[in-house]
Amino acid sequence: MLNFDLKGLVFVNSRQTAKHIFSLLSYHHGGYISSVDLFYGSLRSEQRKERIEQLSNCETKILITTNCLEAGIDLPELDFVVLRGFSSLNSFWQRGGRCGRKSPGLIIFIPDSNNHIDYYYATQPQRLLSPVEKVKIQPNYPSILSRHLLCAAAEGGLNSDEVTQYFGDKSDLVTAELLKQKQLSWSLGKRLWKRGYPHKYVSLRGIQDETISLIDVKTSKILEEMSLYIAHKECHTGAIYLTASEGKTNVWRCKELDLKQNKAFLELENSSDKRTKPDVQLAVEPLSKLEDPSIVKTAIPNGNLRLIFYWGKVKRQVMGFKELQLVYAPTCINRNCSHYQIPKASQMTKCPGCGWTLKQRLNTQEIAKFEFKPPLETTIEVPLLRIEVNETLATAITNKAQEIKKAILKTYHNPDDIPHQLSPTFSYEPVHLALHSLCHLLTKTVPLLFLASHQDLSSYTEQRPANIGTSHRTIAYIFDSVHEGCGTTEALVNDWDNCVEKALELATNCDCGDMGCPRCLTEIGCPESNDGLSKLLGMWLLEQIANSP
Ligand SMILES: [Zn+2]
Ligand SMILES: [Zn+2]
Ligand SMILES: [Zn+2]
Repeated sequence: MLNFDLKGLVFVNSRQTAKHIFSLLSYHHGGYISSVDLFYGSLRSEQRKERIEQLSNCETKILITTNCLEAGIDLPELDFVVLRGFSSLNSFWQRGGRCGRKSPGLIIFIPDSNNHIDYYYATQPQRLLSPVEKVKIQPNYPSILSRHLLCAAAEGGLNSDEVTQYFGDKSDLVTAELLKQKQLSWSLGKRLWKRGYPHKYVSLRGIQDETISLIDVKTSKILEEMSLYIAHKECHTGAIYLTASEGKTNVWRCKELDLKQNKAFLELENSSDKRTKPDVQLAVEPLSKLEDPSIVKTAIPNGNLRLIFYWGKVKRQVMGFKELQLVYAPTCINRNCSHYQIPKASQMTKCPGCGWTLKQRLNTQEIAKFEFKPPLETTIEVPLLRIEVNETLATAITNKAQEIKKAILKTYHNPDDIPHQLSPTFSYEPVHLALHSLCHLLTKTVPLLFLASHQDLSSYTEQRPANIGTSHRTIAYIFDSVHEGCGTTEALVNDWDNCVEKALELATNCDCGDMGCPRCLTEIGCPESNDGLSKLLGMWLLEQIANSP
């Protein structure tokens, strides 16, 4: 596109990807590229305006951007739009519609081979023409409902009939709670009132928290702004943070994230080959039940799952971070090999495991580890789905895991040859493996069913100190990953059978076989770093659910 002097946008699904593509481009142009720029959410409004202007007057020809440029911003006439990776049909057409308004335009879809949904649409492109996904919005969660109720009470007061009429069946409980907390009060005329202006606490999406300014220590200028929630992960003290300006990637080091001043102080780093990766831990705490528990039968006689839909808290702690070194190293690209994606010494040409020719790939090597004391902590309130299994099902899972282990040992005579995707079967508790994998497989189906991304959901597996009643001690949670929820977990609860069926279909059709891969199993945001997964055991559990009599 650059060679043809065309003007356009490149849409990617994350800021990291945008920055990565930009730094690769500038690297291939000798470290500097003037006709390409970046556009993403944490740029300040002047910076955004300037970058759009530069595109309009052709100082810039191509903007690499995230979904923040999707709607609502006026753009000049464009020749093309490149869509790197699929996010939803809705945004596919929104993004694509940015070009070819007056004269013909070109839309190029470049699927990500590691993404299962991209794979799905790449192999069945006619499905891109199907109707856009269902929108799921759930305004009935207690904390959202209570804030809107308070606004209405502040505006003109409400009588009890109006409360039920406008806020639905669940509003009685919320009203009682707000009265108890003295947030609402009855007037003499039997109306509910709220004093003050509660509207400022209402947001449609995203966490209500402080904004952190990223400051260049040399010039004291504000580079960018971001929410505290993102800063904890991307711009903590010691973090490497990438920006782009004037055609170059700038590699910054955060000297200090000052939470009193809401500022992060950044300094340009001398070397460009360092990266950091935060070490994240979760703790889940259910607060109140949103629905009565439901029992899911399986093909195992008396073997059941119990699903409980809660409102609850998820505490995210950034415990520290790893310092990584970028290296080009010979790497085995055979997915079925135990050396897959493990960088080798620079003089090696053949994989010691499978004999395939090694390929030069960009890898990271951990060079140091740092710990925060205390950890950086953020709490979100979200709808949670808790998944439990009873003892009968737990026993069946354990037996199945034994069977899988035997089969693996039969295939790979030498234990050293067992691919790393299969090795957790030998080191993890079977119910943990099964539930963790089940959650991942279910999460993968979300973008096929609803207008939602698989990143809208997270999951977490934990062990209680002991079994409770007939329920096994290992339990799993699936929850919305944005504060106050986005309705995706509830959509999954309501469409459970369909999700199970689709999850089986996706996993069965993935060409990685029994291994599990980023398309069908692993998730970038997994709080357990994708440890403790088994595609075989997860699929077996899905089959038992799907085949219940
Ligand atoms: Zn190999
Ligand atoms: Zn796969
Ligand atoms: Zn996980």
